[in-house]
Amino acid sequence: MNAACLVKYKSLSLDSIDPRQRAWVEVFPSAIRDNTQFVKSLLEENCLLMAVVKADGYGHGAGTVAEAALEGGAANLGVATLQEALDLRKLGISCPILILGNLVNFKDLDACLNWDLIPTISSSREALFCQKIAESYEKKFNIHIKVDTGMTRLGCDISSLKSLINLIDTLENIELVGIYSHLALADGERHGQPEIITSLQKKRFNSLLSNFKPARQNLCRHLANSAGTFRDKALHYDMVRVGLALYGYKPFEDFADNCSLKPALAVRARITLIRDVPSHTGVSYGHDFITKRPSRLAVVGIGYADGINRALSGKISVLINGYFYPQVGSITMDQLVIDITENNDIRIGDVVTFLGEDKGSSITPYEWSQACGSIPWEILCSFKYRLPRVVI
Ligand SMILES: *Cc1c(COP(=O)(O)O)cnc(C)c1O
Repeated sequence: MNAACLVKYKSLSLDSIDPRQRAWVEVFPSAIRDNTQFVKSLLEENCLLMAVVKADGYGHGAGTVAEAALEGGAANLGVATLQEALDLRKLGISCPILILGNLVNFKDLDACLNWDLIPTISSSREALFCQKIAESYEKKFNIHIKVDTGMTRLGCDISSLKSLINLIDTLENIELVGIYSHLALADGERHGQPEIITSLQKKRFNSLLSNFKPARQNLCRHLANSAGTFRDKALHYDMVRVGLALYGYKPFEDFADNCSLKPALAVRARITLIRDVPSHTGVSYGHDFITKRPSRLAVVGIGYADGINRALSGKISVLINGYFYPQVGSITMDQLVIDITENNDIRIGDVVTFLGEDKGSSITPYEWSQACGSIPWEILCSFKYRLPRVVI
């Protein structure tokens, strides 16, 4: 870069610039703390709560979420990848962290031990790596075993669990501190197929646990995600692994009304231009929307490159000062259009709420997921780097 140019800008501070220029995500750590306390209140006293903060804390910022959840009573953290765990360690977070994904490289497991992270082991291959690594450092390697009770994803087969445990028992530097499985249909209805499969998974988990010698009873046994936690106390065991509920959403919509979860995020953007157009005007790419009356349209500075799924085009409403307005036409990469014909008082720079609360009204990821065939989990982790996270 031109040196003169650098000098010219160096004296300007970037610190005072408000990140709420165009579009942003607001994050409410107090909601995460309260939600953690609420979920804890559903658990027996000695049942631990693991806060699942993978995928950058479901898009909220992993560090922010981790701190708030630990404040609210979470005992430890769960992440999907080694890098996610290392990022938390870099922030100075020192609590136990379980890596829920499968680490397959020797080097990754080596880093795991060095940074005091707990890997999930599904096969003898990785168990042997762990032993070799721990032996070379003359350390103990704490691990959790994952067993597949019906999800058919990660985890060893029930039929090979015994031989995996027998192997681990011979590996002197490995300490088996946990055993877990994962539910496949816990967020389904409380009858029919979801109930049958969840019961079956519980039965299988109970049955394999009953094979443990009494000396193993201090093992941390865990099975439930948010849905399992809310569904049935018998799924809690020694710990529950909770993601979605900590972020403020019920894992199934029809859960009891006394559920006091608060959304921990809001997505907002500003109006960048207001246009008055005649009836029969085609709007945005493809002219998928044609005005049916003389209309006042507002352009908003947010698009699919920010995480507003293009499949939502023409299917969502937004909030301005507590009132709903329809989004119209195709959502484009950086902008979209809303119809504000009803209101003459809206101005350029006004804040538009896409998700979250605005003056007593609110929009949830459930509404979006129903509109575009997704699920709230995917909606939450779809917001991109271009939206600064503003911690409130
Ligand atoms: C993501 C994840 C969870 C958390 O699931 P929620 O439905 O968000 O509560 C729990 N356990 C495992 C293994 C996961 O991968």
